[in-house]
Amino acid sequence: MTGAEPRPYRIAVIGTGPRGLAVVERLAARLAEAPTAVPVELYAMDAVQVGPGRIWRTSQPRWLLMNTPAGEVTMFSGPPDDGPTRAGAGPSLAQWWQAFDPAGHPHAYAPRALYGQYMRYVLNRVDGGLPGWARLHRFYAQVADVHENPDGRYRLTLHDGRQLVVDRVVLTTGHARPTLDPPQRALAEFAATRPHLRYLRGDSAADLPLARIPARARVGVLGLGLSFYDVLIALTVGRGGTFTEDAGGALHYRASGREPHVLAGSRSGIPILARGRNQKPGEHAYRPRLFTHERMLAARARGPLDFGTDVLPWLLAEVDLVYLAAVIRRRFGADVADRFVAEAEAATAGPGDRDADPRAVLHRIAGRLGVGDLPPVDLYAWSRRFAGRDFSGPDEFHRELAALLRHDLDLAEEGNVDGPFKACLDAIRDVRGVIRTAVDYRGLTPASHRDEFLGWFVPVSASLTTGPPRERQRQLLALVEAGVLGVVGPELRWGADPETDAFYVESPRVAGSRSTVDVLIDARIPGPDLRRETGLLALLRDRGLLTNHVNAGPDGDFVTGGVSVTRSPFHPVRADGRPEQGMYVLGIPTEHTRWFTQVGSGRPGTWGDFIADADAIAGDALRGAPLDEIAELAEPVTVAEPVGSGG
Ligand SMILES: Cc1cc2nc3c(=O)[nH]c(=O)nc-3n(C[C@H](O)[C@H](O)[C@H](O)COP(=O)(O)OP(=O)(O)OC[C@H]3O[C@@H](n4cnc5c(N)ncnc54)[C@H](O)[C@@H]3O)c2cc1C
Repeated sequence: MTGAEPRPYRIAVIGTGPRGLAVVERLAARLAEAPTAVPVELYAMDAVQVGPGRIWRTSQPRWLLMNTPAGEVTMFSGPPDDGPTRAGAGPSLAQWWQAFDPAGHPHAYAPRALYGQYMRYVLNRVDGGLPGWARLHRFYAQVADVHENPDGRYRLTLHDGRQLVVDRVVLTTGHARPTLDPPQRALAEFAATRPHLRYLRGDSAADLPLARIPARARVGVLGLGLSFYDVLIALTVGRGGTFTEDAGGALHYRASGREPHVLAGSRSGIPILARGRNQKPGEHAYRPRLFTHERMLAARARGPLDFGTDVLPWLLAEVDLVYLAAVIRRRFGADVADRFVAEAEAATAGPGDRDADPRAVLHRIAGRLGVGDLPPVDLYAWSRRFAGRDFSGPDEFHRELAALLRHDLDLAEEGNVDGPFKACLDAIRDVRGVIRTAVDYRGLTPASHRDEFLGWFVPVSASLTTGPPRERQRQLLALVEAGVLGVVGPELRWGADPETDAFYVESPRVAGSRSTVDVLIDARIPGPDLRRETGLLALLRDRGLLTNHVNAGPDGDFVTGGVSVTRSPFHPVRADGRPEQGMYVLGIPTEHTRWFTQVGSGRPGTWGDFIADADAIAGDALRGAPLDEIAELAEPVTVAEPVGSGG
């Protein structure tokens, strides 16, 4: 290149967890396809590790596992081809893992640290495949602030005061660490004045100071979800305990003596249930028959929806369809099951009567085919099996819980295709995209959004569909048997008790369940809430660049706490109502504007939202860099010196 060097066009991606990495990957793939007239510089920036980010940092213990089978995970936007591994063409996590470790089966659950290594590998390959007119800079840095420059660009200030001016900013800052709410603050303050007590706020287990909990301490855990399993494994296997299998296949725990005693509970009193044995290939794509995008789009055309009336009946009909088809297949064979599905689809096709119950139609057809003995799936009853029950004491509760968990393991063993129970729950995962079509961007009325959807459906379905690998549930049973873990019971209550100078946990449904504990761990990952943000997002909020997504309607406003963004490519909506065209916000901070943003990877096969969303941002961000004419990046490049080497 001769004459004056063109000013490079710079794009900063702030936060390189899966979302940020996906954007970098798509930027690189697009750059390789279409030369730009000016050099392009990509800045991948992360405060913890560039590539893996915080949740998947490579330095976490190996016993913390993913809860997505490796065959369903990819960070490349296309499969490997004859060419080199590069943006747009590379292996899934399972393919990469298998190449050096026989444990890397597509149905296996990888350690989180291993996924972090894969993400770093992806970033290296993306970097290595960049064309001559583009360059990647890895910044191991906390971005403290972003200001608008008078020339329309953005000035990033790093934690150490260094500055960098860029043309486009992508905010993929992921999981929040919001300020404590008043009840949490009261618990933290109670512990702060008593050296023998500790209160640990909800966070990724890898980032909780669990090692400081003394052996034999009494530990209360709030929540029985995925983080609870992480905390449990860290306090047992992480303390040197081991699991052994006896001749009959039962698992037993051999304690190291360094474990604390754990007492855990939740609203339902039931640990989140294991997912069914995976029988679906990584590229599996489910075609909804009844709960379709078209049906939900047509419903939305009539105005904001009521989740319970307009969405749930069709969603549950799809769940019933999968359930009944699996039962019919088992009883009468695949041909009859296929006939059932085809007849059900035909009978519910077309606009139909808005008040007709599609589930009744399904059950009538199933009855004709010889399966008339099954009630419709009742998600609430399945997720709250102890609702309204009272127990004479912890022994009775534990007996019942163990029976429930063992039965659930049998159901999980039947598989997520052949087993009717786990297959129909897995269908809810498969139709998440259709749920999004119905609810995103104010699809529901404010009250329905807040109460029916977020207040009822989301927790109920999460407790049934987002569970850990089966092995974790077996380990939990062994820990109860070994006396290391007690599950307190339903409707968990907890608090600080000045009289005993300790925290307490109890279930009003289990007589004699009240116990004092020295450590209280909140094992619930905090959701995003712009009102309680700290740091970068809070500064942008205070200057009106980021605003709260409000679902407004005649029955009142619902201030969701999610960042308000436009539809794709997801520009933040400023306080004055204008989209900020040079910025993008993707993933968890935008939860509630969109639903189910807590996604950790793309999936091999056809592009889902995860990759399509990243690509839309990449396409829009590059639009500011003139195309057509090939420009080679001159040496040396003058940029702010990298603050660190990237993890
Ligand atoms: C413990 C845990 C386990 C999970 N397991 C799974 C799973 O198995 N499968 C699955 O699909 N999903 C899983 N999830 C859901 C999860 O939401 C995603 O996997 C994923 O990490 C979200 O990606 P992200 O890029 O949006 O956010 P994150 O992974 O949180 O990444 C955001 C990044 O931004 C960085 N950052 C934030 N602010 C700044 C700043 N100001 N400057 C610089 N960097 C900044 C952070 O350091 C972080 O690395 C899990 C979540 C948790 C918490």
